[in-house]
Amino acid sequence: MSRPDVHQLFNELETEWKEIEEEAVEILRKLIQMDTQNIGEDTNETIAAKHLKGLFESAGIECSDVLEEKPGRGNLVARIRGDGSSGLGAVMLSAHLDTVRAPKLDWKAEGWKHDPFGAVIDQEDGCLYGRGAVDMKNMAAMSVSVFLFIKRHGIMLARDLLFVAVADEEAHGSKYGAKYLVEKHPDLIEADIIMTEVGGCSTYADGKEFFPVEIAEKTSVLVTITANGSGGHSSLFHPDNPIGRIGAVCNALSTKMLRHRVTPAARSMLEGISKLLPWYKAPVFRNLLSPKLEPWIIDYLLTKKQAQAIIPVLHNIANPTVVHAGDQQNQIPSSASVTVDVRRIPGCSLDDTLDDLREVIGKEKFLPSVDSTGEKVAPELVLEVMFPMEGVVQDAEEPKVKEALECLHKVVYARSGGSPVIPFLLSGGTDMKFFVKHPTKKPVCLGFSPVRIPQGIEFPSLFHAVNERIPVDGYKWGLGVLCEVVFELCKAHR
Ligand SMILES: [Zn+2]
Repeated sequence: MSRPDVHQLFNELETEWKEIEEEAVEILRKLIQMDTQNIGEDTNETIAAKHLKGLFESAGIECSDVLEEKPGRGNLVARIRGDGSSGLGAVMLSAHLDTVRAPKLDWKAEGWKHDPFGAVIDQEDGCLYGRGAVDMKNMAAMSVSVFLFIKRHGIMLARDLLFVAVADEEAHGSKYGAKYLVEKHPDLIEADIIMTEVGGCSTYADGKEFFPVEIAEKTSVLVTITANGSGGHSSLFHPDNPIGRIGAVCNALSTKMLRHRVTPAARSMLEGISKLLPWYKAPVFRNLLSPKLEPWIIDYLLTKKQAQAIIPVLHNIANPTVVHAGDQQNQIPSSASVTVDVRRIPGCSLDDTLDDLREVIGKEKFLPSVDSTGEKVAPELVLEVMFPMEGVVQDAEEPKVKEALECLHKVVYARSGGSPVIPFLLSGGTDMKFFVKHPTKKPVCLGFSPVRIPQGIEFPSLFHAVNERIPVDGYKWGLGVLCEVVFELCKAHR
């Protein structure tokens, strides 16, 4: 059994590769045409899971039943068995099948150029339009295409390759999707390396292209802060008015940055970007790692948009989102509360996170005090915590993470003509935080759904947006990258 390098494999199969590229576009179009909007309990991912199952089965690829915690909420696991010669656990590609909402009828009025469920390829800009085009039916369609290519052309792998299509990522909690699979079917999704969103898409720093790959992820915790006061008639003076107290909380959280916290992932991200920049700009990004210099850089050197994206990488973020206060125009309520959506830096403990909040609001407000008569006074503010979750904490220097990143870098660098891969910390959330909780495996998780985007289209702005679309050429480029990465990681041979 020979083991040529993967470039040779691709060269031998050039004609077949062109065919799979076209087929991959059609698979993506078909998926976009299926309505899998996450509209709550009645969402239907099963329609897409069944369709993919049909594709796998007609190609003779091993595939699970459509797995549903609840009817309609379909998940699917496909597998190509390796010959085991590498002695390594599986490589897993994963994509969620649900999407955020999009208009079905009045799409023109909402600013869409093409029907979000039409999967139209625009002849002017060469983009395929539709909900899910980048988030993330593209990864599902690419993964299926890689499987079909491997199976049809008798390519052997030295370890198992898995594809896991999941439901319910766009709702908070992934309870019918990744969470359900990890808790109820962990044996089906055992893997050493997982690739899913977010990353692998062209991003530009000072005109230079790079490919961010998520290795760490923040997570959320909901905090309710309640202010108490004596309440009463609104004709009197009320310095302890709970509405005023909650107003001060909201003001502090909205205007002051919480404590500066550097993680290994943030360090590799900012140092990686610095290396791309000319010498006179490089210190700007590197010095963001310094708690003393960061506020000055934010105030004087970054654009508002840059600051908005970078501050969450280095700080816990606490945004007031819902306020409950008062219900009568001439009465001071005796309590008021605010819900705060807190996004935690990965690895920062819950206690430390809450301390960050107390620090900017005023620690003394959370403590009981004594009034002038010696009487004990209850704390001005009370803080409660709901749904704390853990983020994804990985370091680009951990040997297994490093090895996987080097493989991605090698392929991307060669196929892009010299653009690097840079590990990064995601401020939002993905299914990764469930996959890392696998009961028996500790997989390396990478945000990597490759796609090449020309400068001028801001890729992150396409997520959940009007006119979600993917450049067809960039999608085909991503397919080649993903396939070669799989070949490298699985030591493909014929
Ligand atoms: Zn997504």
